[in-house]
Amino acid sequence: MISTKEALNRIEWAIKNIGIQTMQLKNSLGCFLAENILSPIDLPLFDQSAMDGYAIKLNEGNKFKTIGEIQAGDDASNVSLENNHAIKIFTGAMCPDSADLVCRIEDITEEKSDIVVAIMPDRGANIRRKGEQIKQGELALKKGHLITPATIGFLANLGITEVSVVAPPKVAILSTGNELCPPGQKLPLGKIYESNSIMLEAALQQYHVELIKAKKTVDTLESTITSIADLLSQSDILIITGGISVGDYDYVAAALEENGVEQVFHKVSQKPGKPFYFGTKGGKLIFALPGNPAAVLTCFYIYVLPAIQKFKGGSFEGLPSVELVSSSKIEKTNAREQFLKAYALGNEVRILEGQSSAMLHTFAESNAIVYLPAHTKLEVGEKVLTYKIH
Ligand code: AMP
Ligand code: MG
Repeated sequence: MISTKEALNRIEWAIKNIGIQTMQLKNSLGCFLAENILSPIDLPLFDQSAMDGYAIKLNEGNKFKTIGEIQAGDDASNVSLENNHAIKIFTGAMCPDSADLVCRIEDITEEKSDIVVAIMPDRGANIRRKGEQIKQGELALKKGHLITPATIGFLANLGITEVSVVAPPKVAILSTGNELCPPGQKLPLGKIYESNSIMLEAALQQYHVELIKAKKTVDTLESTITSIADLLSQSDILIITGGISVGDYDYVAAALEENGVEQVFHKVSQKPGKPFYFGTKGGKLIFALPGNPAAVLTCFYIYVLPAIQKFKGGSFEGLPSVELVSSSKIEKTNAREQFLKAYALGNEVRILEGQSSAMLHTFAESNAIVYLPAHTKLEVGEKVLTYKIH
């Protein structure tokens, strides 16, 4: 059986399928830019007032004749101020070339058609200069930039509606098991509510990855083969849950082989998730996770997430990790590496009760995963590698 590190290395090595795609800016959150973006315009496009106040042309004294107003959105290119003239102006409005500065409404008093400025700011004050944020043709964002809400706002500010990004993977999910019944229906005796697919879909959403299709299959070789064939034809990454262990009705490994998937590894020396399988077909990645829900989510965070990140053009990082001080003790060692559901607060982490791979309750109450190497005990106060989920 391989180690978790070896499993991660083999997955990272297998990811090659990176294409480029043009995408609507509004749908591009979480993608990586595939090329440099040069600014198509000066930003701002014209001198703008940064305040509500008066644009004034200086000459002598601090009294100015007012000659009208300029609202945000008005074209003020024909407005020309003479000496000791002022024009009322609002934040974001076009500032006339002839204005020396804008004084704040709070710093003036109005006297009929004149204003008197109590506190005179410096020349150029309160004017956002044309191109001061970025000039036309300058580098706005570099290739490889991760698109965040701020990125989307900035590019929209430049008038951009489409971006060229590293094509994100299309992901499909297959849940296997005769016992699975969709939540919302009456549960026949012997069946269980299916939770892996909705959980994985939520995890994909959290990382802005599109789920192409989710499907369920009963535990027969034929149905497993046809379900895999269908999903593989539509996806770049296929995540399968259940049916990859040693039971008589675990058909996933055989069905993958039947579909021409090349096994990269099967079984990792870890708890939970020992039966974890990874394979490839062309550039497609296939993760077959053991069905127990807590094992599914652990394997998603530890293996599928970094694969998705790299596939999207980012680095193979996975969850952020930190060294925290354990407030729990573990006396019993295990021959396998362990991922333990835990709760991190400040610089401490507490390992939760109920580590069975069937128990999602513990996972739902955790915010971190503690990694414990094989054959390791843990003392209170000892530092442990902790993956932060949220
Ligand atoms: P398996 O890996 O198929 O042997 O399944 C291991 C355990 O996980 C069994 O108790 C299954 O009933 C359960 N299980 C498998 N798939 C799902 C699923 N999609 N949702 C919830 N539990 C599941
Ligand atoms: Mg099963």
